[in-house]
Amino acid sequence: MPSKNGEPVKQPLKPKKFPERKCIGCGEKKKKTELIRIVRSPEGEISLDFTGRKPGRGAYLCRSVACFRSARKAHRIETNLTPGAPVPEEVYNALEEELSKS
Ligand SMILES: [Zn+2]
Repeated sequence: MPSKNGEPVKQPLKPKKFPERKCIGCGEKKKKTELIRIVRSPEGEISLDFTGRKPGRGAYLCRSVACFRSARKAHRIETNLTPGAPVPEEVYNALEEELSKS
């Protein structure tokens, strides 16, 4: 609905209380608190970060094995965390196991 002076009425922006991140599996944006972080430490070790506080380069993923598998299939973990270097199978398997237990 236009206002009296003809300008469109702008909806007030909702305050962004929670930072949002995109899941590298399904591509959906979710609250950071609903995602888990996959992190590559400065030493190059890849692990799941349930606290969001580990140092290093991180990528976000739903707490879902399905999202993990699609990110793995599309090589998005490498793209985000270890560009130019493949993630070893055993690392993937360990992450998937840890994720399915959580
Ligand atoms: Zn997802």
